[in-house]
Amino acid sequence: MKCSKRIAQRKEYIDFETVGRTSLAEPMKAATLTSPQPVSKRPLRVGEVARPEPKPGQVLVRVRACGVCRTDLHIVEGDLPPSRPGVIPGHQIVGEVAAGATEHLPIGTRVGVSWMGGTDASCRYCHLGLENLCDSPTFTGYTVDGGYAEYAVVRSDFTFPLPDELDDLHAAPLLCAGIIGFRSLRVAGVKHGDRVGLFGFGASAHLAIAVLRSWNCEVYVSTRGATHRQLAASLGATWVGSETDRPPAELDCAVTFAPSGDVVIAALASLRKGGAVAINAIHLDRIPQFDYDRLLWGERQLRSVANMTRADARDFLQIAREIGLRPQVTAFPLDQVNEALIAVKADSIDGAAVITM
Ligand SMILES: [Zn+2]
Ligand SMILES: [Zn+2]
Repeated sequence: MKCSKRIAQRKEYIDFETVGRTSLAEPMKAATLTSPQPVSKRPLRVGEVARPEPKPGQVLVRVRACGVCRTDLHIVEGDLPPSRPGVIPGHQIVGEVAAGATEHLPIGTRVGVSWMGGTDASCRYCHLGLENLCDSPTFTGYTVDGGYAEYAVVRSDFTFPLPDELDDLHAAPLLCAGIIGFRSLRVAGVKHGDRVGLFGFGASAHLAIAVLRSWNCEVYVSTRGATHRQLAASLGATWVGSETDRPPAELDCAVTFAPSGDVVIAALASLRKGGAVAINAIHLDRIPQFDYDRLLWGERQLRSVANMTRADARDFLQIAREIGLRPQVTAFPLDQVNEALIAVKADSIDGAAVITM
């Protein structure tokens, strides 16, 4: 009994090897993460791996561009626990459908893929219409392989056709930085004409400000780095200051983008009664002790922003098309993916880093 079981296991192993070799007949170039390390050690290895094949309900996307997100940094450096050995990161994928076409996604359709790679559609959060909080989600480039590669397999129902107005390079940063920045504005409860604070001014904030300006909001930007402040001013900020400067007016709401609890407290201290701070960070260094009476009393709210829904994606891509949103980008070839992450970590580029294939 034991023996036959062992033989069966062995057979499975042999079959797997055979299948593996067949797949390797179609290699692709990809950046894989074997063990998380500081980006200065260049932990992503660029080389050939087997090209994935779509299963039912999935499409194969030939990747043209993939945006670099701060979350990729947390994955690569191990701030987020490793989820899949040898994972291919990258979750702001722009590409075209190359196999597994459907009626709605014919071959050649230009599509975008984001961080939410799928949900179970069965948990209480999915039933409540809060699919961003799903108990069993799939995250692109974390729990499944992502877009730092020539090809990616993605769920067809979590794939968004892209309007022609958005070219590959400029569409990529919209797919996480843009969508989650937009969700942050929703979570913060921004209304047209509000005074809104943006604390930190990287890839997400420089897209959010365009949406806010189109809603006639006054935007107050606190950020480190003279070039970030210049960019904020050039994009229509009402006021710009360093990360320790207090905005000169009480804010209706604010979004923090830096992975720093000190910045969250600075945002709270700038808020009017009844206002809200949305924290757009998947990981924070810590939350310092703070004075409840002065900072939270008065029905001020502190909320985190978790993931995104497909409705956020569709609504934001529609707004991006309408307002002609064109993010500032710096392109890096796939071979330079570690350098792109180093640049994101150092905040040394304005706007967004995008890997091109
Ligand atoms: Zn669910
Ligand atoms: Zn992201």
